[in-house]
Amino acid sequence: MSNRDFSCPDDRESPNTIRLMEIVKNQMKQGIFKKMNLVWLELTGCSGNIISLLNGSNPDFIYLISQMTNFISCNSLSVNEGQDVMEQLFGVLESDYILAVEGAVATKDNGLYNIIGRYNGRLITALEAVKTLGEKAKHVIAIGACATHGGVSAARPNPAECISVQSVLNRKVIKLTGCPCHPDWFMGTLAHILLYGEPELDHFDRPLMFYSTLIHDRCPRRSYFDQGIFAEKLGDKTCMFKLGCRGPVTHIDCPIRQWNQYVNWPIKDDTPCIGCAQFGFPDLMEPFISYNTTR
Ligand code: SF4
Repeated sequence: MSNRDFSCPDDRESPNTIRLMEIVKNQMKQGIFKKMNLVWLELTGCSGNIISLLNGSNPDFIYLISQMTNFISCNSLSVNEGQDVMEQLFGVLESDYILAVEGAVATKDNGLYNIIGRYNGRLITALEAVKTLGEKAKHVIAIGACATHGGVSAARPNPAECISVQSVLNRKVIKLTGCPCHPDWFMGTLAHILLYGEPELDHFDRPLMFYSTLIHDRCPRRSYFDQGIFAEKLGDKTCMFKLGCRGPVTHIDCPIRQWNQYVNWPIKDDTPCIGCAQFGFPDLMEPFISYNTTR
C-alpha cells in the first residue's frame, strides 16, 4: 500500500480509497468479507477503461479478481471464445452479481452495429446483453464517458446512434465519468458497495467521495487565476484559463489523486483540463485548446 494521503478537505466525511481497502483486507482476514460475482461488459468504446483498470495499483487488478470479487466474465480480456464465453456471461443471471459496463450502447438497426458474440446459434448485440444483464444485476456501474453519457462513441455525427447505459435500463445506474475512469474511482466504489452498499451520489449518480469538488478549487495554479496571471501559450506555468482550461466546470479529484500510479496529471504537465469527467464530453467541452476564450 502506498503512504499517499487521499484525504480531501472537502470530503472529510467520506471514507477514502485507502481506508476502504484496509477495511476490505481486515474483513477478509476475519473471514467476514463476502465476495460477490463481478461481470465486466465492454460495449462500444476503445477499451480505455479496462486498460486504465489494469494499470491500477492500490490495490491492483490481480487483487480485484482474486481477493475482492469472483470475476466471472470480461469480454475484453477473456481467453475463451464463442459459446463458452456466452455461457459464462449469461450463466451469472442465476446468481447475485455486480455488472460493470464500459462503452456506449449502439442502438442503430436494433443494435446490429455491435455484436458481442453468438449464443446458441443466435447473434447477441451489446444492446441485448446490457439490457438482459442490467435488469437482474444487484448493482450496475457505468464506467467511463461512453457508458455514463455516450461520450466519444456518441460524439457528432454518432453513426451507430450510441447512447448511455442508463438510457436503456429502467433502474439506478452508478456513473463513473471520465475518459478513462481512474482505477481508484472504480475500486473505491466497488469496495464501498461490498462493505456498505451504494455510496452517496451526486445528482448525476456519481459517488461524492470522488466527484464532489471542482478541479479549479484544488488546482495548484489557482493563485495565478485569482491574481489574473494567465498562460499565453502551452508550456507556461501559470493559469491556463485563457487557453480553454475546463477545470472551472469539471468536478473530479485529479489534483489530489493524479494518474499513472499517482505521478502526474494534465495540469501538472502544462496541459489544460479538457473536462473529460463532465457530462457532455467531448462535444460540449470543445475546443480543447483555445487562444480566444476571454478576449
Ligand atoms: S489551470 Fe485551470 S483549473 Fe487551474 S486555476 Fe487555472 S483555470 Fe482553474
